[in-house]
Amino acid sequence: MTAAASARQILTRLHEVMASRLHAQGKLDQVVEIIGECLSSEVCSIYLLREGMLELYATRGLNKSAVHVTRMAIGEGLTGTIADNVETLNLAEAKAHPDFSYRPETGEDKFHSFAGVPIVYRERAVGILCVQHVDPRRYEDIEIEALQTTAMVLSELITNAELVDEEEALSLSPQQSGPQTLSGLTLVRGLGAGFAAYHQPRVQITQVMADDTEAERSRVYRAFDKMREQIDGLTTQAEFGVGGEHEEVLETYKMFAYDEGWSRRINEAIDSGLTAEAAIERVQQHTRMRMREIDDPLLADRMHDLEDLANRLLRIVSGQIGTAAQQGLRKDTILIARNLGPAELLEYDRRRLKGVILEEGSLTAHVVIVARAMGVPVLGRANRARGVIREGDEILLDATASTATVRPSAQMADAFAQRFAKSKERQAAYASLRDVEPFTRCGTRITVMMNAGLRDDMSALAMTGADGVGLFRTEFQFLVSATLPQRERQLKLYRDVLDAAGDKPVIFRTVDIGGDKSVPYLSSGIADNDENPAMGWRALRLALTREGLMKAQARALLEAAAGRSLYVMFPMVSEVWEFDAAKKVFDEQLEFMRSKKKMVPEQIHFGAMLEVPALAEMLDLLVPRLSFLSIGTNDLTQFLFAADRGNPALAERYDWLSPPIFRFLRRVVQGTLGSNIDLGVCGEMGGRRLEALALLGIGVRRLSITPAAVGPIKELVRKVDLAEINDAMNQWLSEPGVNLREELSRWATEREIETD
Ligand code: PEP
Ligand code: MG
Repeated sequence: MTAAASARQILTRLHEVMASRLHAQGKLDQVVEIIGECLSSEVCSIYLLREGMLELYATRGLNKSAVHVTRMAIGEGLTGTIADNVETLNLAEAKAHPDFSYRPETGEDKFHSFAGVPIVYRERAVGILCVQHVDPRRYEDIEIEALQTTAMVLSELITNAELVDEEEALSLSPQQSGPQTLSGLTLVRGLGAGFAAYHQPRVQITQVMADDTEAERSRVYRAFDKMREQIDGLTTQAEFGVGGEHEEVLETYKMFAYDEGWSRRINEAIDSGLTAEAAIERVQQHTRMRMREIDDPLLADRMHDLEDLANRLLRIVSGQIGTAAQQGLRKDTILIARNLGPAELLEYDRRRLKGVILEEGSLTAHVVIVARAMGVPVLGRANRARGVIREGDEILLDATASTATVRPSAQMADAFAQRFAKSKERQAAYASLRDVEPFTRCGTRITVMMNAGLRDDMSALAMTGADGVGLFRTEFQFLVSATLPQRERQLKLYRDVLDAAGDKPVIFRTVDIGGDKSVPYLSSGIADNDENPAMGWRALRLALTREGLMKAQARALLEAAAGRSLYVMFPMVSEVWEFDAAKKVFDEQLEFMRSKKKMVPEQIHFGAMLEVPALAEMLDLLVPRLSFLSIGTNDLTQFLFAADRGNPALAERYDWLSPPIFRFLRRVVQGTLGSNIDLGVCGEMGGRRLEALALLGIGVRRLSITPAAVGPIKELVRKVDLAEINDAMNQWLSEPGVNLREELSRWATEREIETD
């Protein structure tokens, strides 16, 4: 008999039992007989979750008197381990396993081999199905698959017959569903409470046994075709077309998507009588088990990819398509993802999105900047997230303290509520600084501007009392659009932004696309195997070759600012001629508008970003051309340290607050002395108090920062004496081996300046 035929036979017999008029216990008793017989196994048992324990509900081969008597805690013994890890075990010698726990009442001492699979409901184990054998032998794949299939059928039976209390199933034992604390890396500070939603939600399987096998087969074929089409489609998108890591991921995806073995196994599972969804899931369970046995970190990564792909296939086949954003958030949500792109995050309703937990992520990745702009706290590098958090779990996210509490106890929730209230109080105190001008103790006015990128961000200008927008990231509009935003749409946005800003200046940065801000409709077209997109064809480099793009933006900005002041800033200027070339595009558009007698801006101020270290060597030639210069420390520091800002492995490696960075920045400040240009810093660094203190200490007098930091930074400014911090910085930067972070914190603490 073929494997599929024997599996089919088991399923047919299970089907009969399930359709019979027997009560639930009777059905379980029958199931253990069928499985024991089909697998020629001396023992077959079912344990179900009851009052937090796994209770023996039915057995063939163990002492019947142990039924409803033997109980194991989650995590205890082999059954408890399977439930705890929601993982299959296949052991030739059960006693040799470190978690083996002998129960005399069952009479199981004569059995050597053991195989058990979890009975899963909503990703949690609600029971265990296991077989035991006198001979020491490992069970074959086909036997394990039969157990997994049966476990799926049992899951349906158990939940339909309410053998397991759903409430209890979803709030299991302490290990599995008691409170858990995850730690990670603070990416965006803040507190948020809500319910977990996966960015790519898991599909719930509602029917295991097929009514019509051929119909299931064609469903799965169609889903495969569609999935392959989608994967192939990704190659044509700029996001995946630029080589490097993305390309590797894509290659793996392709390999799995076209893997004959995978589709064949799913087909066989369908032959055995499963629905398309159950077949995909069964095969996935099996692969998961095999991959875990191999225990190789490289394979673990691949497993992530395969899980993503299997989930994609499940979503297609079940019609449960779309991200959590597309399905719509229904309540306060903490979003869980491995990683996210800035555009993906922007799809979420920011009123319901209370926080984000990423398994990867790094401080200056653009998704993090977007989250900061949206006011959403983010915890990154929480690499246990997917193992611990289940869809719908309550989560208290304290990104400031770098932790997330999953399924909190009442006490934890109380403590969190108190912290929340305190942080609200602090925010209210900052709000009271709104109309207070940031003068230092010694009487110097520091300019504190805010960074923005969306129309909605502009309300923060009035709320924080910032001096203007020091960096308006125009590319955000490009990131949220499905197609290239036309000139009219750009014009409308810029006009709205200027209207909202009133008398306050807004520095519009021309599009900075590329790097980790890729848009599918705009491929770089040149460097299709760009190994390092951050140093690649991005920002001004791209804009200068896409002249149409730059012209359209120039016109939109010039028209939007007609009759007012316009501030334009070019990103990633690497050589002086690039600034000239970019300015020329504006000059030509201006000329054209004048020739058409169109109204033009009253004044235009051109500036550059200093993000590429080489430009610092050309300041004497560049500065006379500019009215302002903004240091983009996010990019600049990644280039100074040669450390990719988006690479999670480097996220904690180098400290911005270090002598090489600050000596470099000091040199830039000194390079502009005596000129009339307005110098500022618009990287994330300026929004953190210790870093801001150091920047003030080397002579920076204008900061443009995330809106949430405006209050805290104003408060800091008012406590600082510039001569004092300038002396201290000069002293520290003249000594080798100084730990700037420690020195600055000590200095601040001595003066009762809060820096946390
Ligand atoms: C920077 O690089 O510091 C910067 C402000 O620009 P972005 O973060 O958008 O690259
Ligand atoms: Mg930059």
